[in-house]
Amino acid sequence: MANGTVRVRFCPSPTGNPHVGLVRTALFNWAYARHHGGAFVFRIEDTDAARDSEESYEQLLDAMRWLGFDWDEGPETGGPHAPYRQSQRMDRYREVAERLLEAGRAYRCYCTTEELDARREAARAAGRPSGYDGHCRSLTPEQAAAYEAEGRTPIVRFRMPDETITFTDLVRGELSFAPEHVTDYGIVRANGAPLYTLVNPVDDAEMRITHVLRGEDLLSSTPRQIALYQALIDLGIAERVPEFGHLPYVMGEGNKKLSKRDPQSSLNLYRERGFLPAGLLNYLSLLGWSLSADRDVFSMDEMVAAFDIADVNANPARFDLKKAEAINADHIRLLDEKTFAGLCEPWLRAPHAPWAPEDFDQAAFDAVAPLAQTRVTVLSDITRNVDFLFLTEPVRDDASWAKAMKEGSDALLRTARERLAALEPAAWHAEALKGAVVAAGEEHGLKLGKAQAPVRVAVTGRTVGLPLFESLEVLGRERTLARVDAALARLAA
Ligand code: GLU
Ligand code: ZN
Repeated sequence: MANGTVRVRFCPSPTGNPHVGLVRTALFNWAYARHHGGAFVFRIEDTDAARDSEESYEQLLDAMRWLGFDWDEGPETGGPHAPYRQSQRMDRYREVAERLLEAGRAYRCYCTTEELDARREAARAAGRPSGYDGHCRSLTPEQAAAYEAEGRTPIVRFRMPDETITFTDLVRGELSFAPEHVTDYGIVRANGAPLYTLVNPVDDAEMRITHVLRGEDLLSSTPRQIALYQALIDLGIAERVPEFGHLPYVMGEGNKKLSKRDPQSSLNLYRERGFLPAGLLNYLSLLGWSLSADRDVFSMDEMVAAFDIADVNANPARFDLKKAEAINADHIRLLDEKTFAGLCEPWLRAPHAPWAPEDFDQAAFDAVAPLAQTRVTVLSDITRNVDFLFLTEPVRDDASWAKAMKEGSDALLRTARERLAALEPAAWHAEALKGAVVAAGEEHGLKLGKAQAPVRVAVTGRTVGLPLFESLEVLGRERTLARVDAALARLAA
């Protein structure tokens, strides 16, 4: 591919459920690739056998598909740099580590954890920087042999240059790291397992990644990776150092970083509640970016057209669930009726639905779906809006009952029942139903709002819901009257 072509990557480790911070990283990379007509590479960083699992791998792929991210190279899609799972690339990492050792860009370190800890403590006590002190940087072959004879197994350490590393972060501008703060670091464990510090830049180099857009939590590893890149360039493995852009932290409750353990951070939660991918992604795009000052709701196409990493804000972004919900609700309003009804399907059927499958009535649902579409925030809200149609009896919610049933509600309900019963089946329409309840209210000196509350609770079990008279029309004459009777019996008891 041509040198000027944008190639970005999304390279999660398959450990646990995907979280929203990770999704935001995927989104910004994907939008950047699509904006520039570049490649979005999806790579699985599964070198940590103790923490990675096949189940998490499947979850990641499933999440990416649900979100609608298409990748140009990666698992299942394949590509010129396959395989895209690091667990299948181990030989290559060992080879690169060997070449770094041969070239003197890395060395074997025999220090034990106890020795390292003791020297770190001493450095701290003396007020010196506490990174690795370079103890094994220039061991003679004899010294190394002596350690080997003791039975020590070395790790491989990368030799950092003794100079300040400066780079221009695409989000944060110029950043400098002094050598005393970025000391030689491990790239291969004593057992021979390559570490993230090695495999991530090696793959970025081999996959010709041009832009690394990732979370701010990884900023401290960037000067190390830049130095490693330099070595890889010298060895002919890398073509160049990619550009880096570090995306701002996402803050949760109490202005603390949103953590993986925070329930609000789990992507599955949003899927289970019935967020639309478009709504969730729209919201997540606002964590560090905006389309314009006066527009919060937009499509992914609009985001792609406008997205530039230079516009990302370096300040921490606050995760605001209420805003996420409001934006999702707006996306639900934008769906055409058929699509909305179709997306509700999973919630209308077991195991989500609270009614028996045989009691579901598609025609009744279709009749009220457009009314519900203007009211739900997430798709799962659909069940409580329409359950009165499919449950044999309305839900029993004592708080709603107490709120609506006041002194005199029984008299009002009796009158309403008479007026409703007086309507012939052919006249059972919202307009006429409203007339009946208005008239009943007038008889008792009640405005419509007050008069309809007991009727609503009698028929639906709740104080809020879809427009009442349309609801009664769809529910039908017989069932409406039976429910009012049941409520009267309950009041009399
Ligand atoms: N596998 C790393 C992580 O999930 C990737 C970090 C990076 O983007 O460089 O933290
Ligand atoms: Zn050492």
